[in-house]
Amino acid sequence: MNIIIFGPQGCGKGTQADMLVEKYGSYHLSMGDELRKEIKNKTVIGKKVEKIMNGGFLVPNEITDRIALDRSKSRDAKKGIIFDGYPRTDEQWGFVKKNIKIDIALEIKLTSKESIRRIASRRMCPKCGKNYNLIWLKPKKTGCCDIDGARLIQRDDDKPKKVLKRLKIYALQTEPLKKEFKKIGILHIIDGNQPIKKVNKDILDVLH
Ligand code: AMP
Repeated sequence: MNIIIFGPQGCGKGTQADMLVEKYGSYHLSMGDELRKEIKNKTVIGKKVEKIMNGGFLVPNEITDRIALDRSKSRDAKKGIIFDGYPRTDEQWGFVKKNIKIDIALEIKLTSKESIRRIASRRMCPKCGKNYNLIWLKPKKTGCCDIDGARLIQRDDDKPKKVLKRLKIYALQTEPLKKEFKKIGILHIIDGNQPIKKVNKDILDVLH
């Protein structure tokens, strides 16, 4: 089963996608993580997208479309793929429609106020990329990654001004996609203000 999971920054798409991976063995494609990996590995793509991402803007479609298509055809995606952070625009959805079969689109709804509150407490390990949250997913030792002990950082694009810009882009470009998903009968809406386990239960109910 191929799933698109979408919602504003901080709605918990990544966490929920990881829970589905554990249950169904699907492949979690987080477009943001893929792009950050390219930057970390200093690849040609990484060099192209670093400034754009740090500014809170969207990177060009030809890069994200290529990544999405490659991963959807990979062996890891045999049991299905969960798209997190892609498609984000009309053009990207146009590409997906033509090239990849989507079974379900899950919208995790969250108010902007809650989204900003959650992102302010998000931290990341610069070494392995693991995400933490100072409210509900704290590291065992304050400020350090559980896996490699590296000092946790706040992503540049998680800083308040950039977050507002990203939320605006979400409202203008990504949220309207739900009309398209609804038209073809694949849209399901989940309340993201609930505890993680309840959100997960609601998603599993939809999938069943
Ligand atoms: P995220 O981790 O999903 O919040 O994404 C972080 C950043 O990666 C975004 O602000 C964009 O700069 C870039 N990005 C992620 N997904 C996409 C996408 N589908 N299209 C364009 N840019 C993206």
